[in-house]
Amino acid sequence: MTAGQKYDVLVIGGGINGLGIASDAAQRGLRVLIVEKTDWGSGTSSASSRLIHGGLRYLQYGEIDLVRESLRERGILTRQRPHLVHPIQLLIPTFAGMPTPKWMVGAGLVMYDLLARDALFPHPSILSLAKTRQREPGLNTEGLSGGYIYPDAQIEFPERICVELMQEARKAGADVRNHSKVTALTQVGKRVTGATVRDELTGREETVTASMTINAAGPWLDVVNRTLSDAPPRLIGGTWGTHLILPMRPQGPQGPIYATAKKDGRPFFLLPWDGRLLVGTTDVKFIGDNPDRLEMEAWEVDYLLEESNHLFPAAGYKDTDVEEITVGIRPLPASDKKAGAVSRRHFLVDHREKQGIEGLASIVGGKLTTYRSLAQEAVDWTLKALGKPAVPCTTGHLPAHPLLVPALITEAQTALANLHLPTTLAPRLIALYGPAFASVLDRIADDPTLGKTLGPRTEILEAQIVHAAQSEEARTIDDIVHRRLMLFPPTPEAVEGVRRICRERNLLREGALACPA
Ligand code: FAD
Repeated sequence: MTAGQKYDVLVIGGGINGLGIASDAAQRGLRVLIVEKTDWGSGTSSASSRLIHGGLRYLQYGEIDLVRESLRERGILTRQRPHLVHPIQLLIPTFAGMPTPKWMVGAGLVMYDLLARDALFPHPSILSLAKTRQREPGLNTEGLSGGYIYPDAQIEFPERICVELMQEARKAGADVRNHSKVTALTQVGKRVTGATVRDELTGREETVTASMTINAAGPWLDVVNRTLSDAPPRLIGGTWGTHLILPMRPQGPQGPIYATAKKDGRPFFLLPWDGRLLVGTTDVKFIGDNPDRLEMEAWEVDYLLEESNHLFPAAGYKDTDVEEITVGIRPLPASDKKAGAVSRRHFLVDHREKQGIEGLASIVGGKLTTYRSLAQEAVDWTLKALGKPAVPCTTGHLPAHPLLVPALITEAQTALANLHLPTTLAPRLIALYGPAFASVLDRIADDPTLGKTLGPRTEILEAQIVHAAQSEEARTIDDIVHRRLMLFPPTPEAVEGVRRICRERNLLREGALACPA
C-alpha cells in the first residue's frame, strides 16, 4: 500500500473473483488495491471441483443464460490459458431406474452442445454398453445400459490462475497485498471510505482510503459487511462441498466421470487429477456465521467412498486411502431453496440502492468458470459509479496466435537442455507457469546454483522457490508449497527443501517459515 494514496477501488478478497476484478480494473486505468487475508486463491477457489464447465445440471433448473455464459467463458479460458484449462471428455454412465431418464440426459446434452457451438469441443455422443465397458472396465455392470460422452474443461490448478491474475493486476499498476486482512470497513456517515487492514504476518495495521470498495470476500462477505455500524442484511447463504483425493487404481475410473449417487440421486464427479482421483462433491447448507469455523462432517467421507465403490466395486476405496480432503463454501445468495437448487448465477449488490450506503458494492455468487465475465460487469459498473468514462474491457480478447501446449513443452525442453538440466521437467514447468516458464529458467541462466533440485525424490528447481517468493508474492512456506508448486500433499522432503532454501537465500520473513500443512 502506498502511504497517503487514495485508491479508486479497494477490492477485498483475493479469490478468483476479486483477482479478476482487480486485474480488469487496473487494466482499464483505475488505481486499485487488492487485499487478501490469507493467500491468493486459498479460499473457495482452491476447494472446487476444478472444472471450467457450462454446468449441464443447471439446464434442469432452466438456467439457460447461465449455461450459455459459462460455455462462452469456457471457450475463452481454454484458448487464453491452455496450460491451465484444457478440454476433457466426461462419461455419463446410464443405469436402469436412474432418476433422470436416459432420453432426458441425451436431450440435455444436445441442448448443451447447441448452446456451446464451439469447435474446440467435440459433439456429445452416445455409447453402447460394450463401448462403455471398454472405456471403463471397472464400472459396475448391474443395470448398466451404456452411457454418453460429452466435453467440458478441467482446470487442474485454479490456484495458479489466481497467481497469474494477481501478476496481471500488478503489471497493470495495482497494489496487491496478501496476508492482509480487512478488520473493519471505515465510514464517514453513510459513505464507506475504505478499510482498516492488518498484515497478518507482521501485525502492522493501517487505514486505506478508496472511492469505491468492492467486497469480493466470497463466503466471508457478510463477516466483512457486519463491521459497518449499520450492517446490511445477510447476503450469502452458502452451501459447502467436500472433495476427497484418492489414489488412481486399475479397478477404478480411468477417465472423468459424471455420475448420479445411488443413495440420494445427487450428481457427483470422479475426475483423474494431477495423477490422483478427485471425488466430489457434497452440497450442504452452511448456516453458521463465520466460514472460518466450517468443519466438514464425517458422513461426507463415507458417502463419497460408498458412492465411488458402488460405481467401481473392485476399487475398494477405504478411508485410509484418502490422501487429502478439501472443503469449501459456495458463496451463493441467501435462499430458501434446497442446496442443489440455489442458482450459481452471480450479481453485484449496490449498497447505495439497497441501504443508502455509498461507496460499497458486494459480489454474490459466481463460479470459477465465469470469473472473467463477472469481473467485466463489476468494472463496467464501477467506472459508471465513479463517474469515469467507459473504457472497453479487453480481458476477453483471444491470443493472436493460438498457444499450443506441446509447442511450449518443446520450447521448455530445449531451454532445459541448454542449461544441462533434465528435459523431463518440461511438462510440469508448463503446467505451472505456461509461457512464463522462461522467467523461471532465466534465473538459472543468471545463477546456475538455482538449477539444483530440492532433493533426490523432489524434482523441483531451486529457481522455482526463488521465483515464488520474488515474482509470485509468496510470503509463507505454505504459500509456496500449496499454491505455487501445487504439492498435494507435499512430501516432508519437499517441505524441508523449500524451508531450507528460504532460509539460505533469506527469502521470507522469519515469522513466515512455519508450514501449517
Ligand atoms: P473465494 O475463493 O473464497 O475468495 C474470497 C477470498 O476472500 C478468500 O481467499 C478469503 O481469504 C478472502 N477474505 C475473506 N475475508 C477477508 C478479509 N476480511 N480481508 C481480506 N480478505 C478476505 N466453480 C466452477 O466454475 N467449477 C467447479 O468445478 C466448481 N466446483 C465447486 C465445488 C465446490 C465444493 C465449491 C465450494 C465451489 C465450486 N465452484 C465451482 C464455485 C467456485 O469455486 C466459487 O464460486 C469461486 O471460487 C468463488 O470465488 P471467490 O473469489 O468469490 O471466493
